[in-house]
Amino acid sequence: MKTIGYATHSKDSLLEPFNFERRNLRSNDVAIEILYSGICHSDLHQARNDWGFSEYPMVPGHEIIGKVIEIGNDVKKYKVGDTVAVGVMVDSCMECDQCKNNDEQLCRDTFTQTYNTPDRIDKTMTYGGYSKHIVTREEFVLDIPKALDISRAAPILCAGITTYTPLREHKVGPGSRVGVMGLGGLGHMAVKLAVAMGATVTALTTSKNKTQMGLDIGAHKVLVASDTEKMKEAANSLDLIINTVPVKHDISNYIPLLDIRGEMVIVGQFGSLENFTTMPMVFGNNKLSLSVIGGIKMTQELLNFCAEHNIHPECEIIKMDQINDAFNRLAKAEVSGRLVIDMSSLKME
Ligand code: NAP
Ligand code: ZN
Repeated sequence: MKTIGYATHSKDSLLEPFNFERRNLRSNDVAIEILYSGICHSDLHQARNDWGFSEYPMVPGHEIIGKVIEIGNDVKKYKVGDTVAVGVMVDSCMECDQCKNNDEQLCRDTFTQTYNTPDRIDKTMTYGGYSKHIVTREEFVLDIPKALDISRAAPILCAGITTYTPLREHKVGPGSRVGVMGLGGLGHMAVKLAVAMGATVTALTTSKNKTQMGLDIGAHKVLVASDTEKMKEAANSLDLIINTVPVKHDISNYIPLLDIRGEMVIVGQFGSLENFTTMPMVFGNNKLSLSVIGGIKMTQELLNFCAEHNIHPECEIIKMDQINDAFNRLAKAEVSGRLVIDMSSLKME
């Protein structure tokens, strides 16, 4: 199938229109016309090769909402016209203990990313959601509940699931005291989800001008990280911190916020921490852990949870040709919530 997307051809290039072919449908494939595509900071990291494994041309995008336009012969779950979604994964081995346990994100043979990974069958590179169409095996396609506004749902597919998974794993609920570092895509979803779960939530921001937004989305308190006085007063006040910061940073300012046995889960930047020391953590039996996205079953549970609790990401809708400006804003931490591309702004040539 002929389609069009926006691709980058090297780590230093701008994204530009890119004509390419989507594969012919395999028997278990669903073809989707993409309607909305969220812009994750991981798209920026991979476009700029921050993680060292980028291949070009690259069509980023892994927060995808669309409509089914064609199905393979054996597809059971979906029919033409259904509103569906695709997130960060499009395949995994489906046979290892992790996949069988619905943790495809931890597949022992590594999951296939929606873009920038070779397809498991034909070895061509996968291309993501900054495009008009995508073809994906049905097991990795998700169902969008009717109650969700599709123009504001795309970020659930990555920002949502990446923060929902550790919140669920830590059994967050009434009585939990949760902190969230960073009020960008992931962070603002963490706030909304933890609030909906009944937790008391403190948003931790480096941008004073995001304070009102933090309160508006339900945080019980917003602390500006540079306000040493307020940070000191908040010592020992949190059980769990979800850290979404996308760049190398120093966590020593945040660790004292954890109570005894409190834990920080890093879901943000991949790499080393600045000035990392175990010193303040050891005397509190604190834990530091990492977490990557979440499984397909959990993602469907989250979509249903968002529908039930009327949770929508804060989305600023942009046009496809604004993508390079969008990346610059993301790099400067100027985005609160998520930028989402209205894919009707990308026309077939
Ligand atoms: P984003 O929208 O850019 O938000 C990140 C936020 O972090 C910013 O809005 C900013 O919030 C804060 N921040 C930025 N620079 C900072 C600094 N130097 N020090 C402290 N805080 C800073 O990014 P995102 O899409 O939420 O993604 C966040 C990170 O998660 C990225 O690195 C992304 O690759 C990663 N990620 C991981 C997974 C996973 O599976 N683990 C999945 C998706 C994304 P304030 O202005 O409020 O401080
Ligand atoms: Zn993402």
